[in-house]
Amino acid sequence: MDTSNLIRPQVRGFEPYLPGRSIASVKRERNLSKIIKLASNENPLGPSPRALAAMARAGKKLFLYPDGPSTALRGAIARYTKVTPERVIIGAGSDELIELLGKTFLNPGDSIVVSNHAFIRYRMAADLMGAEVITVPMRCDTHDLTAMGKAIRDNTKLLFIANPNNPTGTHNPTSELAELLKQVKTANERRIIPVLVIVDEAYYEYAKAFSPDYPDTIVLQKEFVNLVTLRTFSKAHALAGLRVGYGIADPAVIAALDRVRPPFNVSAVAQAGAEASLQDTSRIKKAVSHAAKESKIVNAELERLGLKTLPSIGNFVLIDVSPRKGKDVFESLMSRGIIVRSMDEYGFPERIRVTYGLSAENRQFMRALKEILKP
Ligand code: PMP
Repeated sequence: MDTSNLIRPQVRGFEPYLPGRSIASVKRERNLSKIIKLASNENPLGPSPRALAAMARAGKKLFLYPDGPSTALRGAIARYTKVTPERVIIGAGSDELIELLGKTFLNPGDSIVVSNHAFIRYRMAADLMGAEVITVPMRCDTHDLTAMGKAIRDNTKLLFIANPNNPTGTHNPTSELAELLKQVKTANERRIIPVLVIVDEAYYEYAKAFSPDYPDTIVLQKEFVNLVTLRTFSKAHALAGLRVGYGIADPAVIAALDRVRPPFNVSAVAQAGAEASLQDTSRIKKAVSHAAKESKIVNAELERLGLKTLPSIGNFVLIDVSPRKGKDVFESLMSRGIIVRSMDEYGFPERIRVTYGLSAENRQFMRALKEILKP
């Protein structure tokens, strides 16, 4: 059978996402007994015990389909963010919501605006739908919001901002975001098809604590109806394996996304776990203070080694290992049982991205890195 004409042209040329290597696969491949994973910006302290208990309870009801619209979790998110439930959508990770934005709004001939080192899933959402990707170079290692605003064309529908960005960890403060939103609002008044500005706040809990000038996009939505906020339970909530994220936006945008959303996209266990995790605020505080403490220690050591890093308000750091190739350092670390991320697909061939792990893991990582970088 010749499938070449069967497959959509957009899918034929589609490059799948390369996730961080899993502990199990590296264990098998390298025949190592102990692996440290600092590759996917997970929170190593693990999920809230309250979430684990809620999930065990929900497990007993797994013969039933989940509540399709995740009503209880939506209500809890609405209370937490002080919005009405019709402004909330729940996804199987924020990743599903990024893809839903593409499926709902993009046709071939439309375009999105992203920066050149932005989280790659925005570009992929556009590629999948056959939409054009307008790429804007970063300025001072972060999104150049002025240039991104200017890059909007007549066919542009979505503008994506990861704040902070993965993999750079850098962010745009309230003043810059508000300026862009004003610029787009003025442009939208003259356009037939408005532009949505999507701010991906996957690292929200860390960012809010680490940066005094971090934007409050939920408040900004009152003034800017075209603003969409995305967040996740995968990072500070330590529930990456559960796959829950949420979006907050104008009810008309949410209603459109909801029509495309698969009917049972979030499992009953996931809904219960996320709802319980949201109540456990002390657990989030712990996650944030752990990352704050470890980042200080790791960053000071990196500086002593003379390695350049970018200022990150997430639970990870991008490290410049030049003149070495990031891929080589990644390989050498992996042979010592430490998984980090090389950054070729993000246009950083001489950098690695490392998540702050447990104290002992970070110490082991630093020891291994010193060994590898020894002249
Ligand atoms: N956005 C950003 C900026 C991310 O770093 C990630 C995870 N790597 C995601 C979205 C997707 O996270 P999830 O689907 O687990 O919510």
